Amino acid sequence: MSFSLLGLDQRLVSGITALGYREPTPIQKEAIPVILAGQDVMAGAQTGTGKTAAFALPILQSLMARVDRERDPSERHVAGLVLVPTRELAQQVHQSFEQYAVDCPVRVAIAYGGVSLNPQIRKMKAGADIVIATPGRLLDLLYKGALDLSSLNYLVFDEADRMLDMGFIDEIKRILKHVPKQRQTLLFSATFDDAIFSLSKTLLRSPKLIEVDARNTAAIDVEQMVVEVDEDRKRELVSHLIGSKNWHQVLIFTRTKQGADILASEMCKDGVNTLAIHGDKSQGARERGLEEFVSGKVRALVATDVAARGLDIENLNYVINYELPHIPEDYIHRIGRTGRAGNTGLAISLLSAEERWMLEEIEVILDTKLPTQWLPGYEPDLTKEVVVSRKNSRAAQKKRAKQRAQGKRTGNRRR
Ligand code: AMP
Repeated sequence: MSFSLLGLDQRLVSGITALGYREPTPIQKEAIPVILAGQDVMAGAQTGTGKTAAFALPILQSLMARVDRERDPSERHVAGLVLVPTRELAQQVHQSFEQYAVDCPVRVAIAYGGVSLNPQIRKMKAGADIVIATPGRLLDLLYKGALDLSSLNYLVFDEADRMLDMGFIDEIKRILKHVPKQRQTLLFSATFDDAIFSLSKTLLRSPKLIEVDARNTAAIDVEQMVVEVDEDRKRELVSHLIGSKNWHQVLIFTRTKQGADILASEMCKDGVNTLAIHGDKSQGARERGLEEFVSGKVRALVATDVAARGLDIENLNYVINYELPHIPEDYIHRIGRTGRAGNTGLAISLLSAEERWMLEEIEVILDTKLPTQWLPGYEPDLTKEVVVSRKNSRAAQKKRAKQRAQGKRTGNRRR
């Protein structure tokens, strides 16, 4: 099936053909006609499935008709808002819109925190047809009167599960006060749980539920390997694997920012050129790091979950979970960085005895058992005492979330 058969404008079809898209991915096949028909959508789609084009193309299509009609940009209001959890994803979605709309005079603006506000205010005031934004920065702009969303036609939540995980629910509620009730709403989420369903009830009207993969399953093109190893030998093993197998462009996940910095500097000492990116690095440093990784100047990139969100790197073959994530759904997001758009990938998780419960939580959401193995020379020392802290287990997190909801504690929010 071709994109033209989905009813897309020839200008959009030529934009995506230039990007090498030959035919629509399953999510695009299902979602594009429904969105073009004006229905709300709730879609379960992981990164790597082509979900961005699934919402961007039909929105652009309808905007093009308006742009053709109303040639004077000053007469046009903001018609589309895409909310995303992180600046990296904002940039990626922005880039996709610009690439798809290369032959269409649609104005796409972007807003995210961590950089100065004024240039974004100026850009918004100059006028935009579509705004892509993280929730916190969007509110800043709304409060400054830099943009008016009162005539919005499309509201998109991209990676909605992640937005909730990051504690953006209050920001979302505040943003909803600025948008009209009469609109088309599209919600994309890699995973569905009760929180997503209850959010969807407040946002969507008779949505079409679209799921292209079985719920909560990992990308099928990724080979998953779990290696049992002692915590204090993990770094040595990572450097050994990368060096001995001559791997390039390896994305490594740690749980903490400090852990990312330490690992990157130790790996450099091992002779593997490595950089760390995380939320404490400036936007410029993160972008430069990513560029060096993509261009092959650095061989390995160590990232935290938040920083890695939205990274779209072509042909990434290797992901290493240096530490397993506390949030089991993050495992799916992490390994979804590889095996994208038809490429195969390898995801290796290094499992210390203390992390076994995290593996169990991941196996529950994947509904599959991930067999573990030892690597010669790195076998775990079974005589060591194991101290397990479950303070970040799903059960403990739920308890804390409940307490927060009851006003007993306040959580830290990240922008
Ligand atoms: P996404 O899930 O939107 O992050 O997209 C993942 C990757 O797939 C991106 O590199 C897109 O450029 C690419 N992609 C999206 N749709 C298609 C398509 N129909 N054919 C080939 N590649 C695609």
